[in-house]
Amino acid sequence: MLLFSPVKVGSLQLKNRLVMPAMHLGYCRDGEVSTRLVDFYARRAEGGAGLIIVGGCAVDEHGYPSMISAAGDRYIPGLARLAAAIKEGGSASAAQLFQPGRYSYAYLEGIEPVAPSALASRLTGRRPRELTTGEIHRLIDAFARAAFRVKQAGFDAVEVIASAGYLISQFLSPLTNQRQDEFGGDPARRMHFGLSVARRVREAVGAEFPVIFRISGHEFMSGGNTTEEIILFCRQLEDCGVDMFNVTGGWHETPVPQITMDVPRGAFVYLARQIRQAVSVPVTACNRINHPALAEKILSDGSADLVGMARALIADPDLPEKARTGKWEEIRPCIGCNQGCLDAVFGRRDVCCLVNPRAGRESAHRLQPALRAKRVLVVGGGPAGMEAARVAAVRGHRVTLWEKSGRLGGQLNLAAVPPGRGEFKTLVGYLCGQLDRLGVEVCLNREATAENVTAGGFDAVVVAAGAQPAVPQIPGVHRPHVVQAHDLLAGRVTAGRRVVVAGGGAVGCETALFLASRGTLDAAAFYFLAVNRAEQMEKLLALATCGAGEVTLLARSAVGKDIGQSTRWVIMQSLHRFGVRVISEAGIVSIDEDGVLYRKGEREKKVPADTVVLAAGSLANSMLGEELKEKVREIYVVGDAIAPRHAMEAIAEGFCAGEVL
Ligand code: SF4
Repeated sequence: MLLFSPVKVGSLQLKNRLVMPAMHLGYCRDGEVSTRLVDFYARRAEGGAGLIIVGGCAVDEHGYPSMISAAGDRYIPGLARLAAAIKEGGSASAAQLFQPGRYSYAYLEGIEPVAPSALASRLTGRRPRELTTGEIHRLIDAFARAAFRVKQAGFDAVEVIASAGYLISQFLSPLTNQRQDEFGGDPARRMHFGLSVARRVREAVGAEFPVIFRISGHEFMSGGNTTEEIILFCRQLEDCGVDMFNVTGGWHETPVPQITMDVPRGAFVYLARQIRQAVSVPVTACNRINHPALAEKILSDGSADLVGMARALIADPDLPEKARTGKWEEIRPCIGCNQGCLDAVFGRRDVCCLVNPRAGRESAHRLQPALRAKRVLVVGGGPAGMEAARVAAVRGHRVTLWEKSGRLGGQLNLAAVPPGRGEFKTLVGYLCGQLDRLGVEVCLNREATAENVTAGGFDAVVVAAGAQPAVPQIPGVHRPHVVQAHDLLAGRVTAGRRVVVAGGGAVGCETALFLASRGTLDAAAFYFLAVNRAEQMEKLLALATCGAGEVTLLARSAVGKDIGQSTRWVIMQSLHRFGVRVISEAGIVSIDEDGVLYRKGEREKKVPADTVVLAAGSLANSMLGEELKEKVREIYVVGDAIAPRHAMEAIAEGFCAGEVL
């Protein structure tokens, strides 16, 4: 495979073309590299990535406290420990230098954000202070000094982030740079800051040390820089000695989704290709690349020289080695859910992973072979049960799994139905493949009772019996045109033209989207139209999102409260685009034959409906677990069978049960 052919970045020879781009993990305190961070990256290096870029690393006081800092010499020993661990694992290493400008959250620590101009950011809601010319020169020095520390610490390369709407992008963009001095005005002066950073970093690290720039190939901001301007910037950066461009999508503030599950895989590779055609140094393509087949295609069609996978390596650190040795079906797929990673970053929590409970807990969770192989029964083939069965089997137990339906996957199968949520299927496919490979005996259409479980004589039982949809106490809820969202998504029932979805959580929102998208273009086609937001596309967009039905979403409180920050705005934008009528803070009074009567404030109104879809949460199937507690010596209850929870929690509980059996 081309993916596993060597490549040179400046003077640095990489063993393969698979790069793990920098991603904030939240594992540091006060900027110091922690053992947890070292363990995390050591594991990714062992997995076979060609280049691991750590960071961002703050160049001044504007990093997050949980971020790596390169803002002083005292951080060098920690950085050196990190670089050494990556080297020992067999990967080359780089550290990314970071200054957020108006995106800074340092105001939480009482530090005022600074930026080229005093323009508030939608990300933080804060108005930064405009930098003085003297401060700008000091910042350029800060980048250079931090780059030198990175080199001193033993990293193989340094990267500068000039993407995503952080400080260098803010100088580059007419949207955020209204200065009239040497650092603002025409395009050349807006480039001046980024080019000065590149020159000073090059001087600081010397001619031979590789310097990488992370670039937004397009800002995707109305009135902002397009690829045309970015190419001019890249050409000049190359003249300043930049050895590689790591190309990503737009800014954090852009209305174009870039990282969510609905974004087609590899959707932004075209940006890397355009930049590659304009420069002579290697280019890395990034964003929503989670499979070696796609990576290989990107390389073989000449779109990029290297491929970046960050979340994919959080999900499975062994992806490179599995890909190299042809064990593709064993790769645990990143599904683009963001629930464990980017939502955690935006919520200022430590990063973990929905599909990989070991991420960020590499030393705590070392799977030990079982001391004695037990006969283990897992009841329930949803995410928690499948993960428990997988882990128990990995450890050497003899595992049987009973699933009462005819299919494994549980609610993941339903989660995969709404538009843009299909990646959930890849997780089900992976888990099914693993159970098969590990010899787990899977019995479908097998309902567990306290009697047949105890009669089986198992040494240990994991109850992952899931949950069932709740039925709210509303007059008319048992009428024949009232259905459950689960039944609708499973295809057991259909809906009429006018539909009211009752429930504004994730299931309600996604079911409303599913219904509203009936008769429209598929998600991928829609997405490409959304990216091309040129004016002439608006009519086409309207047609592409005009479904065959009328859908109303009724929510008791705010809509989508249980959806993570990275995805919620995308779902809300889609609800709007697909014409879903959203009524929040509304209580249902009754479900009548011809519609739903609701109260909002002091007023009652009726929405006509041919079908009413309930998405009112679930109730744990806890009875079996309760009954078995008295009868089975070793029992674990996990997932929704305890109480309804997110898939991430359910999988983590399944993992832990499998780990301690
Ligand atoms: Fe991928 Fe979701 Fe894991 Fe993040 S939490 S790495 S998006 S699977």
